[in-house]
Amino acid sequence: MKYIDEFRNHDLVATLTEAIVRRSKKPVRIMEVCGGHTLAIRKYGIQQLLPEHIELLSGPGCPVCVTPRISIDRAIALSRLPGVIITTYGDLIRVPGSRSSLNQERAQGADVRIVYSTLDALDIARTNPQKKVIFLGIGFETTTPSSAVAILEAERQRISNFFLLSMHKVMPPAMGALIDQGIRIDGYIGPGHVSAVAGADMYHALVEKHGIAVVIAGFEPVDLLQSIYMLVCMNEEGRHGVEIQYKRVVTPRGNTKACEMVNHVFDSCDESWRGLGMINGSGLSLKEQYSRMDASLQFDVQVEPLPEPAGCICGEVLRGMKKPAECRLFGKTCTPANPIGACMVSGEGACQAYYQFR
Ligand code: SF4
Repeated sequence: MKYIDEFRNHDLVATLTEAIVRRSKKPVRIMEVCGGHTLAIRKYGIQQLLPEHIELLSGPGCPVCVTPRISIDRAIALSRLPGVIITTYGDLIRVPGSRSSLNQERAQGADVRIVYSTLDALDIARTNPQKKVIFLGIGFETTTPSSAVAILEAERQRISNFFLLSMHKVMPPAMGALIDQGIRIDGYIGPGHVSAVAGADMYHALVEKHGIAVVIAGFEPVDLLQSIYMLVCMNEEGRHGVEIQYKRVVTPRGNTKACEMVNHVFDSCDESWRGLGMINGSGLSLKEQYSRMDASLQFDVQVEPLPEPAGCICGEVLRGMKKPAECRLFGKTCTPANPIGACMVSGEGACQAYYQFR
């Protein structure tokens, strides 16, 4: 409790808010690219503490949200194959595909199982040797190491019926792509968990290329306000660079063992993001030596790209161009109980965070 009190301390919050107001003269647009930050900013009313000329934007930080519709359709097509068990983290099964969702497929008899770890998926493969078990790998640098572990363990234990559909993504190319696409962003609140794994150094190329400020933040109100203060100072002084506010967790090099494992198992590839399109070098595919476990190569399913549902503006929300409440479906036909678009599915999706704390 002492730990939590320290980072939710009212006096500290008031002091930081005053410091931001005093220091900030120029308009500034700050984007968070972590679903956990989106949720915390809404939950603690951080935007409401700031002067009007400091605008907080939600970016492509929720793994479920940025997984494009065609990837969901591919997972659904895989779930319809005979003898296949789909294993996945919970939120993904509720994401609408073009005509169905994994949840609906499960209701109609497909074997779709929620797991809490990739090793659970591996256990399912071990205990169902007559089936083909596919794990749907989504997420950023935070979840990729656990997919790498599953691949290495499957090989070590000679489990031949385990497959990975890698939809994993890496964050810095998407942060750069948003700037290339003309979105005005003066600074990024850097993702805390992603950076804990991959290290703060991974943003250096991005900040040098785009002259942008990145401050890696924790998830409590004091963390977020201190990070915003640091970004405001950098903006006022015309500085760019990478700074770490979340020093109790994030280091420059991150978890080197996890990074080594990821580099051992995956190659960089181009990847499609919902709302952002194809981004060079933003994905991870299994290296050739693990191709026998690569579901994208071992299963032949054809899916064609179909448009987002009429009225859904998830793509613009994920690029920080529009706020969820600007969607005409928000809170009407689209709610957490009945999500029309991916951003309303997960608690870390911008639309659900705005809905829960509206
Ligand atoms: S409110 Fe629903 S339909 Fe609208 S952008 Fe968000 S997820 Fe899409």
